[in-house]
Amino acid sequence: MIDYSKILNTIHHEATTSKDRGEIATYIPELSKVDVTKFGIHLMDIHKNEFSSGNAKEKFSIQSISKVLSLSQALSIIGEDLWKRIDVEPSGDPFNHLSLLELENGIPRNPLINAGAIVVADILVSKLKNPKEDFLTFIQDISGDKSINFDSKVAQSEKQTGFNNYAAANLLKSYGNLHNDVDTVLDFYFHQCSLSMSCAQLTKVFYIYMNRGKCMQNKTYLTTSQVKRINALMLTCGFYDEAGEFAFEVGLPGKSGVGGGIVALLPNNYCVATWSPGLNKKGNSKLGMLALERLTTATQQSIF
Ligand code: GLN
Repeated sequence: MIDYSKILNTIHHEATTSKDRGEIATYIPELSKVDVTKFGIHLMDIHKNEFSSGNAKEKFSIQSISKVLSLSQALSIIGEDLWKRIDVEPSGDPFNHLSLLELENGIPRNPLINAGAIVVADILVSKLKNPKEDFLTFIQDISGDKSINFDSKVAQSEKQTGFNNYAAANLLKSYGNLHNDVDTVLDFYFHQCSLSMSCAQLTKVFYIYMNRGKCMQNKTYLTTSQVKRINALMLTCGFYDEAGEFAFEVGLPGKSGVGGGIVALLPNNYCVATWSPGLNKKGNSKLGMLALERLTTATQQSIF
């Protein structure tokens, strides 16, 4: 039996004594208000046993982690047609780069960079009757947690400074790969990124990716093949131009966000989330990456 409590407490202790915590994202003004010393880690195993340390129950902005969730809902609605509009290759570029988009005629490299997630948002805006509400309901359903919600202050804050995402959406529109209004799609995208959750809530939401598409209440939301695809994308594209480093150090599929959250999973085994708002140069949580490296090293468990 692995003593997860002991391992998480050791990781937490190490994190709190760390001097270099990275830098908080300031390009979304509302995110810059967060306390850089926060650190939380939460693990849930397949039998729903939970282990926690630090600020694991405190909510934060999940930002790009939401791209996995919007992709899942879009895939469950339109299936494989989605791949006609988005590729599945790592970009090797930062999350907001636009150069490849132009080179590749408006087909984003993958659904986890901003341009790809904006196309996914466009699909959901086309397919859902009440896009924001229906997306939120999907997340509340898969987690069984009705308290999960958007943070409208964060969404509003990003709308005011999201020039790069406006550029991406306009470029997509010029190539015919955005069917709705730029403003409507970005309003949806900024709201999905503003979802506020704790590490504990994130593990409930991501339970389906370690449990072959079935949620904690045993209801099926994704096929095993869809889960395979989504986990593969998390492994190869979940950390942008640091996906190789994360696979190399941690060895799990996962996804980061500029709010400082990371969620990762060992299929059929456990799901783990970390939160430490300071980011490294590639925009991924500095201590979160370190913590997960410690976890897979201490437990000697990874997908490899
Ligand atoms: N909302 C953020 C953006 O579009 C998400 C980026 C991230 O978390 N990497 O810039």
